[in-house]
Amino acid sequence: MTRDTQQLLDEIADEIKHDKTCPLRATRKHTVPGEGSPTAKVCFIGEAPGAEEDEQGRPFVGRSGQLLRKTIEEVGFKEDEYWIGNVIKCRPPENRDPSTEEVEHCKHYLFAQLVLIQPRVIVTLGRYSLQLLVSPELKITKIRGQHIKKDGQIYLPTYHPSAVLRTGLQTLPEFRRDIAAARKLAETD
Ligand code: URA
Repeated sequence: MTRDTQQLLDEIADEIKHDKTCPLRATRKHTVPGEGSPTAKVCFIGEAPGAEEDEQGRPFVGRSGQLLRKTIEEVGFKEDEYWIGNVIKCRPPENRDPSTEEVEHCKHYLFAQLVLIQPRVIVTLGRYSLQLLVSPELKITKIRGQHIKKDGQIYLPTYHPSAVLRTGLQTLPEFRRDIAAARKLAETD
């Protein structure tokens, strides 16, 4: 079962790599499909790969990724408990925000990944994943840290780790609390 899920996730990663109509195909170095446990209870979903992610083909391996991964580890997550991915799978040039066209083109990959993994909790990091997965109306500052139930799924919106870095780590305690709450929620729900 687990192996089947991983195989299907690998097939999606392959489709992403060979997507001939991807609007970012010409400028990216590597596709970044996402990584982690196929049986993850918690999925962390960011926005788009940055320069370091583009180099390595792995999500959240740059500066903000290090903060995310360190926090995930510090609150006690084990390797097989989580999966990390993004709304779009290729780096936009100069790290600009993803365009509506890019999100529209790419979103079905994330939806398929989440259907396969079936996490108990989805932590949205920043506004792109919040607005795509929960509702386009929502603002992080209003909703962060709240549990939202939608279509049988629990969402927990929090800051994007690069926003935490931009505050000079002032928002780190809230960010850490949200990541810890996601783990608790996944255990109890
Ligand atoms: N920011 C994101 O949203 N995703 C990454 O993978 C890296 C930085």
